[in-house]
Amino acid sequence: MLDVTRVEAGKMAFETEPIDLHAMLDETLLIGAPLAEQNGNTAVVSGDRPDRWVLGDPHRLRQVLLNLFSNAAKFTRDGRITLDLSVDETDAQVASVEIAVIDSGPGIPTADRERIFDDFVTLNSSYDRNAGGSGLGLPISRRIIRAMGGEIGIEPGAQGRGSRFWIRLRLPWAQGSSRTRYAGADRRTLAASAGCQVLLVEDNDVNRMVAVEMLRQAGHEVTEAADGRAGIAAAAQRRFDLILMDISMPGMDGVEATEAIRTGSGASTNSPIVALTAHALPEDRRRFADAGMQDVIVKPLRRPQLLSAVVRHAAPPADAARAAPGQAAVAEPDGEEEFDSLDDIFDPNILSDLSVTLTPEALHRTIALVRQEIDISLSAVRAAAARHDDLDLARQVHRMAGCAAMVGASALHAACGDVERAGKAGLGDTARKRAAELPDLVAASQSILAEFVGESAA
Ligand code: ADP
Repeated sequence: MLDVTRVEAGKMAFETEPIDLHAMLDETLLIGAPLAEQNGNTAVVSGDRPDRWVLGDPHRLRQVLLNLFSNAAKFTRDGRITLDLSVDETDAQVASVEIAVIDSGPGIPTADRERIFDDFVTLNSSYDRNAGGSGLGLPISRRIIRAMGGEIGIEPGAQGRGSRFWIRLRLPWAQGSSRTRYAGADRRTLAASAGCQVLLVEDNDVNRMVAVEMLRQAGHEVTEAADGRAGIAAAAQRRFDLILMDISMPGMDGVEATEAIRTGSGASTNSPIVALTAHALPEDRRRFADAGMQDVIVKPLRRPQLLSAVVRHAAPPADAARAAPGQAAVAEPDGEEEFDSLDDIFDPNILSDLSVTLTPEALHRTIALVRQEIDISLSAVRAAAARHDDLDLARQVHRMAGCAAMVGASALHAACGDVERAGKAGLGDTARKRAAELPDLVAASQSILAEFVGESAA
């Protein structure tokens, strides 16, 4: 719903970054595979692999692809889903791109093919009743693609069966093909509002890590406080342009901490304070406002909401961000030094990217599926190790590795790789010894994922 109004009001910000289209299709497949497999589908990527990259908004494009892919996965049983790329390279300036998501599912009657792009339309088939849905995925996708100057449509799939959703876009070629971020116009706009001093009061380690990552990527300076009291102390010491305040924290909650900051005489007594919360019913919002808060951001945190709150509420110091627009102020996300404990086992960029790309519901669903898959493959890994079936062991850890990679569980991913290589090389003893270390890593990764989506780790 929110997404619809945002696109309609033309408020949706588009970024310009180099995109490796083929890699994007691979990523979509990786994220969507568990959903596809749940319904007994196989999924593949096919088509062109252009050497050059194009310029566009990777997050928005991925959002549309994931939406089409998850529809295909939802409505198709025991079938096949293909993500197909074709790129016309004849024009030296602009690539003509067609991406198709093809399924062998029930298909869509001719009479409904235009209508499904209207708001709230779900075709009342038995598939729909099983799958559930808001009828907003396709209309949002169409708005996004049209805002990019492209078109989206549907035709029957191969041999007239199933569906073939296509996106056609003309995207400029990127200069070179490096993975460095493109410091284009949109980056500059972002950088112009960068350089804010933000105090982040949040007790959940993972949420704090993700928020810090998003804010630092946008060029803001972040001071972290892990509970209400630490937040009050930090706010007393210096003036922040903005305070982001988690509401539910053990000991002193965000409302109490805000009241203490507002009634005290510390340096940040008048700074804007924005609540971070999973519960934002009208009565909650009133309570936050009464305590002296200006706004609410609803969790799970997503980058556009977070950054637009910063832009709305925090005025950057006059000269901070002007120095080198688009470059110095935009920190490259390397996630290296800031996250001492967690980054040993997680890559915060992937989690932050997932929470940007997916709607909150899709994020929950994806993480739940990944967690389930990891548990299933752990049982299979144990069984294979017990049987001394080293080839099956390699197969099972490979599956676990894919899930781990999808959510940025880097340590688990690496450990699975070790087991798989040893298993395939016929080093059964080594493989089984390393496999015995997996349960601990799985437990640690699972509890971080649970925490990330706000469930109790138990
Ligand atoms: P949602 O999937 O949330 O219901 P969408 O706007 O994404 O909403 O899709 C609208 C409707 O179009 C779906 O409810 C379904 O009836 C139909 N549909 C979409 N994709 C497919 C597909 N790949 N195969 C069959 N039907 C589809």
